[in-house]
Amino acid sequence: MMLENQQDGWADLHVHTTWSDGLFSPQYLVQKAAEIGIRAIAVTDHDAVRGIKEAAQAGKTCGVEVLSGIELSTTNGIHDVHILGFLFDPEDPYILEYVDFFQKERQKRARKIMNRLRKMGVRLNVEFVIANAGHGAVGRPHIADALMEEGYALTYDEAFYKYIGDGKPAFVEKPKITPSEGMRLIHKGGGLSFLAHPGMDLTEAEIMAIIKQGLDGIEILHPTHSEEKVNYFYKFARDNNLLVSGGSDCHGDRKGKMMMGKFNVPYRFVTEMKKAVKA
Ligand code: AMP
Ligand code: FE
Ligand code: FE
Ligand code: ZN
Repeated sequence: MMLENQQDGWADLHVHTTWSDGLFSPQYLVQKAAEIGIRAIAVTDHDAVRGIKEAAQAGKTCGVEVLSGIELSTTNGIHDVHILGFLFDPEDPYILEYVDFFQKERQKRARKIMNRLRKMGVRLNVEFVIANAGHGAVGRPHIADALMEEGYALTYDEAFYKYIGDGKPAFVEKPKITPSEGMRLIHKGGGLSFLAHPGMDLTEAEIMAIIKQGLDGIEILHPTHSEEKVNYFYKFARDNNLLVSGGSDCHGDRKGKMMMGKFNVPYRFVTEMKKAVKA
């Protein structure tokens, strides 16, 4: 991919905050972005939008542009499909209704997971885990943290492998919409819908089906994409008339890495998105 002659600066269009399963507050993330010299970030919490406003306010004081974003959990019946939304109205009533519904569903599901764990002899303080997720959408990473703290797992990966990973004994599905419903929601809010990390587990046929349902772009730069994959998806986007995005998928340093800004996402991706949203 041509990244030379990059004069517009850099962006990071995939970061999580404490409003979902990230460890950093929106304010802290923006401050870090400013320190690293990132021009723009998109806050893309899982099924949550309340962090955007906080980040945007912080962004004004330290000169970082904050774009609205979201990472919707959807399924095509075979695989999980993460749909990224960008540049929608974060106050859009349809989007707010959806994220509020989903947040309640996530709390119900966290209780179910911890119920299953209890039957396996694993006792977690349910109210504490939910409260510990704070204002954000409670997810398996929060339960993994508790499993480690209470000594039921030595590592984060072990918590998933032994208990809460997909298909493991304490795993409970969360309700999911289809990719097409997710994209429609983002479009209703005036935004653009992108396929997150397409190289993770989708086949080309699955990707083509999602494109036909109204996809605007794909995420080409992502920590799970090798250089070959980045080049492949860059060309794939061009051939299919799609926009491109990229980001670090930073979750704070939950996995021992502070990833923000590590993936050299050109700001011109943002410029292209803005043009498309106007059109
Ligand atoms: P949830 O949305 O509550 O189902 O949690 C999904 C999140 O859990 C993902 O975004 C990952 O960060 C993490 N996760 C899921 N499966 C695993 C796994 N096998 N190992 C480590 N982390 C995982
Ligand atoms: Fe996550
Ligand atoms: Fe994702
Ligand atoms: Zn993500």
